[in-house]
Formats: sequence, structure tokens, C-alpha cells
Amino acid sequence: MLAFLAPTPTPGRAAAILRDIFGGLSASFAFRLWDGQEVRVGPGAPVCTAVIKSPELFLDLIRDPSPYNFAEAYVHSRLDFEGDLFQAMDVANVVETVKLVLDAAVFPRVKICAGWVTPEALADLEIDPDKYPLTIQPFDQCVLEFEGARHQTDWRRPTSYGIIRREFDHYLLERAAAAGADVRWGIRVTGVTAHADRVRVETDRGAFEAPVVIGAGGHRCPVARALGQVSEREEVVVAQESETRLPPEWAQRLEPFLRAPELYVEPDLRGYGWYFPKRDFLNVGVGCTHGDDGSLPRRRDALVASLRASGRLPEDLPLAPFKGHAYVVRRQAPRRLHGARFCLIGDAAGLARDLSGEGIGPAIKSGRLAAEAVAALIRQGRPLDGYARQIVERYGPGELGWLQRRLSSLPEAVARLGVRIVLGSARARRRIVFNSIFGMREVAP
Ligand SMILES: Cc1cc2nc3c(=O)[nH]c(=O)nc-3n(C[C@H](O)[C@H](O)[C@H](O)COP(=O)(O)OP(=O)(O)OC[C@H]3O[C@@H](n4cnc5c(N)ncnc54)[C@H](O)[C@@H]3O)c2cc1C
Repeated sequence: MLAFLAPTPTPGRAAAILRDIFGGLSASFAFRLWDGQEVRVGPGAPVCTAVIKSPELFLDLIRDPSPYNFAEAYVHSRLDFEGDLFQAMDVANVVETVKLVLDAAVFPRVKICAGWVTPEALADLEIDPDKYPLTIQPFDQCVLEFEGARHQTDWRRPTSYGIIRREFDHYLLERAAAAGADVRWGIRVTGVTAHADRVRVETDRGAFEAPVVIGAGGHRCPVARALGQVSEREEVVVAQESETRLPPEWAQRLEPFLRAPELYVEPDLRGYGWYFPKRDFLNVGVGCTHGDDGSLPRRRDALVASLRASGRLPEDLPLAPFKGHAYVVRRQAPRRLHGARFCLIGDAAGLARDLSGEGIGPAIKSGRLAAEAVAALIRQGRPLDGYARQIVERYGPGELGWLQRRLSSLPEAVARLGVRIVLGSARARRRIVFNSIFGMREVAP
């Protein structure tokens, strides 16, 4: 739920703001402003009229349009209702659901990502992969390569899927809009300030205020930068990928390689490369930790050279240019997950999984949890601490424990031996690598 900011509005400005905010709601009702002007919203004849007696009340209601605030204003005679009071409360319930989504990009937009998703992430989105209308490829197989040894794992059913982020993210936003969210793209947030009773969001199209804000702006989310206590000690992954749409003749030529994703563990264990087919798309990339050492281009070139040598990337295949992006994995120096009136989710909260770098699933899960927590805050006044507790239960405290610290300080040769042993065992590979680290599990039909 979000509201527009209006510094001591004129009736004309207030009318425009009311139409802007409430114009898309399914309920039909009217406001009468302090100068007698009537503002009708909704598709039909108004079932009731809320009489806003002063600009101050207008600001209060716009900042927090909850049924509680409407009721309180009514009890204190700051607000009158004309029409059926029960219908008025129904309208207030609809009004409470106003949710504003701001994104700097214009959709469909490119998102630098391989687009590998788990069944759990799709289930959290209530997407049935068999019914998803855009590009999706199920995988019941995956290859892991380390120090020249290839290890293939097969399952009886799909344990992961490949999607195209450009399509997927657009689909989700359109779905949110169809469900009633006020989705506005092409609006860049430039600053965020938390006050005791609201959060102010500055954008390149003016300012907004809301009782609660959810920061979902990715690695450099402005809500995280303003309120998330981002530490220089956090573990940043840098990654580059190239996503190419294969013309039919190329899809046919590469067909033997397009059955399953392949992962190539970096020799120093600091990341991995991937060869990731998704129907007629091919995504190739590499990511690594401590990316500030500038080693990523060398890793990318080594990956491309080896894919060329194996025939997976023929010299004459026109490959889309590589593009890079960064994100934080939940390993150390965690960001602040919430305050009294904000939550961070996804990359804004630094929730991508350590080792696998899976970030889509945690972004979706944390988004759902945050939405529930915010609804409980608005409706019952329940603080947002519960959201942070759920994240810690699910994704850990964000600091290495004693055992992990010992393991991470092992000499590289010992760590490599451990990886060879785990990858060499079909059972350990399935359980430790795919199940625990990558979240890939067979889901019963
Ligand atoms: C090369 C690469 C490959 C990856 N592959 C995978 C993979 O296969 N599977 C996986 O699970 N994860 C993968 N990840 C990680 C994954 O992409 C992220 O964890 C995930 O996208 C996080 O989602 P999010 O919604 O939190 O952030 P994002 O997807 O980054 O979305 C943030 C949104 O905020 C908007 N925004 C940013 N700043 C502003 C602003 N100032 N004002 C308004 N809007 C703003 C952006 O336009 C964007 O739409 C990969 C990452 C990289 C870099």
C-alpha cells in the first residue's frame, strides 16, 4: 500500500491525485473535497461519498488509506460518509489494497541472468511450468565439470527449468497489474528517507510517500543504500553472460549439446561457468567471488575458448555480446533486512545463495514473505521483525559459522580434493551439490 505525497494540496491538485491513485480500483465511490468539489472514481455510479473536510485530513488519508484510519477520522468527525456506511467500509477495504510498484526500467527489459529456476521458485509464483505461456525448458539432467572430469546427474522428473528473464519479469509485472497493483515503470528512485510514520521516496518524476516501502531494486537498490546498512565486507559476485537466440539451423547443429545445462567449476573454486540451453536460446556465462581482482574477463575468455574447442560454440556462431552485473551472496556482513517501515527483499537484501548464486528463488520467496509481513503491519499493527526472523530461519544468519570458517580457510589443494570427492560420488553430488546448494529437487507430479 502506497500513497502520493502532496505538500498542502489545493483542491484541484487533490482531485488529480485522488483520480490518479484510486482511478484504477474496482469499487465506484466519490470524494467531496473541502471546497465542495466532487471527485468520482471507479467504473460506475458511486455507492457512497467520503466527505473530506480539510487538506490535513486529505494528507492523512492519502498517507495511510487503511480502514482503521478512515474509521478513526469518521469517529472524530473529520470525515463524513454519505450513503450506506457498510458499503463505505467495503470501499475502504478496496482502497487499502492500493499497491504502487515503481521500476526504473521500461518493460520488457533485458535482465542479465542465466534464467535458471527451481521448481520451488515456480511454485512460490503459482506458475505451473506446463501452462507457462512463454519460453521454458524443463531439465531432468545436469552436467558438472571440474579439472577435466565430467559428471552427469539424471533425475526421473524435472528438477529445474530455464526461462528468459526479459519475458519472465514482464509476465510477472503484467500479472501483478492485472491483480490490482499500480505498476509504473520508467520511474527511477533517486532517494529514500524513513520517518516515524512514513517513508518518502524521491524519484525523477516527483516524490511519493507511503506507510511502508519494500526495497526490491536489486544489488544497488536505493532503499538498501539509504536504510540497509550496506557493508564493504559483503561478498560480491561479479558475473557476465551472453544470451543468444539460435536460428533453427544453429539449434539443429548444436542439438547434441542442448539437452541439459552444464556447469564448469573454476579451478580456484571461486565460481563457475555455464552453458545453458533454453529452447532456442543459449546462455553462456561465468561468475566469481572477490570480483574486484579483475579476473572475470580472463575467466570468460578461458570458458569461451574451451567451449569453442569442444564444438559447443563454433567460431562462426554469431554470439550476443557478453554483459556483466554484480550481486551479493548471503555469506557475511548481512544487510539490514527491515526497519519499522521498510523491508528489503531479493538482491536488495543480498539474499542470493552462497556457492550456487541462486537469486531468483530467494527474491520471490522473500517478496512473498515481505508482502505478508507488510499486510500484517498495516492491518494489525504487527511489527516487521517477523519478516527478518523468517529470512534468517530460511537463509541463515548471513555470517559464517565456526565450521564454515574452518572449511573456508582450508588450503586450496585440500578444498579441491574435497570437491573432487563430492563430485565423483553420484549420491553426494545429488544431495550436497544439487539438492542443498542449488535447491534442485524432484517434485512429485
Ligand atoms: C550473469 C548472472 C547470471 C545469473 N543467473 C542466475 C540464475 O540462473 N538463476 C538465479 O536464480 N539467479 C541468477 N542470478 C542472480 C539473479 O539474477 C538475481 O539474484 C535476481 O535477479 C534478483 O532479483 P531481484 O528482483 O532482487 O533484483 P533484479 O532482478 O536486479 O531487479 C531489480 C529491479 O529494480 C529496478 N531498479 C534498480 N534500481 C532502481 C531505481 N533506482 N529505481 C527504480 N527501479 C530500480 C531494476 O530496473 C530492476 O528491474 C544471476 C546473476 C547474474 C549477474
